[in-house]
Amino acid sequence: MSLVTLCGSLSLHPSPLGASMHEAGYRALGLAFRYVPFAVRDIGGAIAGVRALGIRGAGVSYPYKQRVMPLVDALDPLAQRIGAVNTIVNDDGRLTGFNTDWVGAVRALEEVRPLSGARLLLLGAGGAGRAIAYGAREHGALVTIANRDAAKARELAAAVGGEAQGLGEASRAADYDVLVNATPIGMQDVDARSPVPPAAIRAGLVVMDIVYKPVETALLADARARGAVVVHGGRMLLHQAARQFELYTGRPAPLEAMDTALRANL
Ligand code: NAP
Repeated sequence: MSLVTLCGSLSLHPSPLGASMHEAGYRALGLAFRYVPFAVRDIGGAIAGVRALGIRGAGVSYPYKQRVMPLVDALDPLAQRIGAVNTIVNDDGRLTGFNTDWVGAVRALEEVRPLSGARLLLLGAGGAGRAIAYGAREHGALVTIANRDAAKARELAAAVGGEAQGLGEASRAADYDVLVNATPIGMQDVDARSPVPPAAIRAGLVVMDIVYKPVETALLADARARGAVVVHGGRMLLHQAARQFELYTGRPAPLEAMDTALRANL
């Protein structure tokens, strides 16, 4: 039997989405890699396992994105500034923590327009919101953060060099070039409403909802109906996995194969 390189994910409640995308990528390129989602209750033990078993790469999700930070040997500078690690790369026993959520968001948005100089309104200042705010600023966007907890919006805006607002700013979405929902509003089983009044959406506005279940949220349905440019949350998910794939394998990610697998499992 030939040797395989093992990758996986570490989370309390594993999702099949990462495995579906990564495995499809390995198959498309004929790589002797496998991907296993691990249900983790002891993150310290899991990281020791990554080292001991020579696991090449591991995605990290809820609730461990902060807790793994002191457990790795080095941090990518932007992951450190964001304050969250969703990806660990193991180079011969030396573990480095990365954040690929921001890459996913930036690549998904830049498929439809450049971020440099774009006025971007970001709803939410949680884990994903932080990653998007840093990534968008790195790529030259002018970022306004609107959050329910105003203090969190102010803290993030000060850290990235942006503006802070309350969630009511959503009603002024037409004044922006790009709108991103990084709150769970719109999620199936959470709150199916849109966080943005439909009348605030203008034709040509780029609207990305990072909520990916349902695929077409109320926000995206309104955006489509009003002639906005719609970016599904699945696109961010795909591109953040693609960046992980590149880090683990050193190969460009086969996006189409990974996207087909994601769509089949969403
Ligand atoms: P999080 O860290 O818990 O942050 C949640 C954010 O949403 C906070 O800013 C919070 O505001 C706000 N929020 C929560 N409930 C709200 C409500 N009822 N009304 C107004 N604001 C509310 O969560 P997260 O990890 O950032 O994830 C947020 C969403 O993004 C989830 O739906 C997750 O599935 C999705 N996500 C998607 C991707 C992707 O690749 N597409 C990646 C990561 C996450 P406060 O600060 O005021 O509490």
